[in-house]
Amino acid sequence: MKSAISEARSLMVEDQIRARGVKDPRVLDAMRETPRERFVPSRLADLAYEDAPLPIEEGQTISQPYIVGLMLEAARIKPTDRVLEIGAGSGYASAVISLLAKEVLAIERFPSLVALAQARLEAINCRNVTVQQGDGTLGAADRAPFDAIIVSAGAPEVPPSLLAQLALGGRLVIPVGHDARAQELVVIEKTDEHRFDRRSLGHVQFVPLIGTEGWASEGAVVGIRRAAPEVRLGKRDRAKIARTIADACEPFGDLRHAPLDALLARIGHARVVLIGESTHGTSEFYRLRARITAALVARAGFKVIGIEADWPDTAAIDRMVRKRPASPLREPMYARFPTWMWRNIEMQEFVSWLARRNETLEPSKRAGIHGLDVYGLNNSIGAVIDFLARVDPFAAEQARERYSCFSPWEQDPATWGRAAAVGLTPTCEHEAVATLKSLLEERLRYSREDVDAFFDAARAATVVGEAEKYYRAMYRSSRESWNLRDRHMFETLLALLEHRGSDTRAVIWAHNSHVGNAAATEMGTHGEINLGQLVRERFGNQAYLIGFGTDQGTVAAASNWDAPMEVKTVRPSHEDSYERIMHEACRLLPAPSNSFFLPLRSAHAPALRAELMHPRLERAIGVVYRPETELVSHYFEANLPAQFDEYIWIDQTTALEPTALPPTGEYEIEFPTPAGRTPAGRTPAGMESIPDTYPFGL
Ligand code: SAH
Repeated sequence: MKSAISEARSLMVEDQIRARGVKDPRVLDAMRETPRERFVPSRLADLAYEDAPLPIEEGQTISQPYIVGLMLEAARIKPTDRVLEIGAGSGYASAVISLLAKEVLAIERFPSLVALAQARLEAINCRNVTVQQGDGTLGAADRAPFDAIIVSAGAPEVPPSLLAQLALGGRLVIPVGHDARAQELVVIEKTDEHRFDRRSLGHVQFVPLIGTEGWASEGAVVGIRRAAPEVRLGKRDRAKIARTIADACEPFGDLRHAPLDALLARIGHARVVLIGESTHGTSEFYRLRARITAALVARAGFKVIGIEADWPDTAAIDRMVRKRPASPLREPMYARFPTWMWRNIEMQEFVSWLARRNETLEPSKRAGIHGLDVYGLNNSIGAVIDFLARVDPFAAEQARERYSCFSPWEQDPATWGRAAAVGLTPTCEHEAVATLKSLLEERLRYSREDVDAFFDAARAATVVGEAEKYYRAMYRSSRESWNLRDRHMFETLLALLEHRGSDTRAVIWAHNSHVGNAAATEMGTHGEINLGQLVRERFGNQAYLIGFGTDQGTVAAASNWDAPMEVKTVRPSHEDSYERIMHEACRLLPAPSNSFFLPLRSAHAPALRAELMHPRLERAIGVVYRPETELVSHYFEANLPAQFDEYIWIDQTTALEPTALPPTGEYEIEFPTPAGRTPAGRTPAGMESIPDTYPFGL
């Protein structure tokens, strides 16, 4: 008769593992045979078959059974294989592997865990596992190569030593990522001496891998303070802070009538205003951002609008709004995922407003719109060649020749980056740099006729160079590629300011994660910089950083990268988040206000600033939203008043409206009616000379 415990184990295999898609019968059998209850502290034995990781000695954890099954299936271990496991912990995974492989070497950092695992393995008569103490990030060179390497702790990056110790055809399964709460579980297969194929199994959460090629120390790991008591606020504290917010904020109901005068006064003489959004698919963020921008353009003479979009695609819009000659694109505008981010009604409204406003102005006064991002390789290549074809056909031929380096990969630059990063295909660095250099050398000649067209082409050539680096960096490390991208956005902004003249002022639209100072968030702790931080460092108080936030509603987002857009429901905010406090503050406002501006600079709100200064969770929804794993995938720790100068809260929000059409046509759209004029005697500082032709009433 089957014992209760083996019954529980069979159920676990059926319900938690097979039901979730792990099908390999050898893995399922091995898990059915391995007594997990013998590997957890005895007080937790009753929980051994729960669908969860459990705490073990030394503050470590035994992985959730499903994750063990998933990793081992992905490792495709054969009975003849020699396997290395890093992070033996309790010894449980080693025991399961011992049934699949010929022999297992397991490395563990804590001597006490080594002793415990050895004893536990011996007790179940497991003879083909050796557990030894050491730094597993370096592998075990003297015993290499291994047919499979399983890493049971999360690494910031893939340790090169482990890659080197894989046998030909060997598989490395490892959680990687800079966020201690959400690593990506990847399988890397060595397909020939210099080639590694990499595949993702989704997001997971492991204890940190600490060692020479892992995290430097426990303290270096970000995000594990997550539920720390100082972050958890009781209801009473929240109510108190919510009261302070309600007193300090400037409430509004309908965003079409949100009063902007005080905000414009706070912005004052700032040269750069960054407006961030906490999702890439919320209509209200887009519309209010457009209103604020229109006010900055019409009342404060802002001339550069920089957006988190591709340079060449946005250049086509810029040509339209500034009445410059059109130039064809190789690929349809904003056709790259995520299309809805710029192909939407909200964007169309703004673009047609800008076009109409510019109509009556002389060219040097017209505000332009520009893409700051590093993507858009193909359209950039096209833009450079087309420009040269007009001004210097010989150079165009040379550029075409050089850029042909990218041709086999044009449709899939990410795959190119991976191939180039591992030496499978030559890089195109030299070709990209040489083209940009030749172009810049002829600056005077090329810009004689149309200086804007030259500037466009030079930026496009810069994008090609940076994208070339970006796609290679992407394979190596998410931190490196992120930093490269934000640095590129910053350089583009500086180039635009220079190009439009020394007194030029710019407004930037991008995600909160690019706009809010990274040094005030988890990003900073793990070495990521961003546009907001670079702008702050360069412009000091002449930069005004604004963030948007919301509690709940709907959002346009995909479930996965490259997947179709869906209208998803945004979950009510987490109780440990800034969002929750804002939501509570909202409920204290007189109806019909359900939104507000919240100035955060000490000059405006010293008491509030002090109260909000304790780090809390903050939500970021990008183009992908996964409500099922929201806490792990979308929340990070931040210090709001250090991150932004102002926060705009819209309690309930709705998904933006995507459109199939490129936003370049002429659209007759009803624009929000102008809000009231500046009250007499209260002309906002710094805007005395600006005519009060406030936003859309032109
Ligand atoms: N496979 C284990 C999971 C243990 S948790 C099980 O089934 O129980 C991960 C383990 O990795 C921890 O015990 C931790 O101490 C260990 N670890 C972290 N960094 C390490 C390193 N550089 N070398 C070896 N072990 C490490």
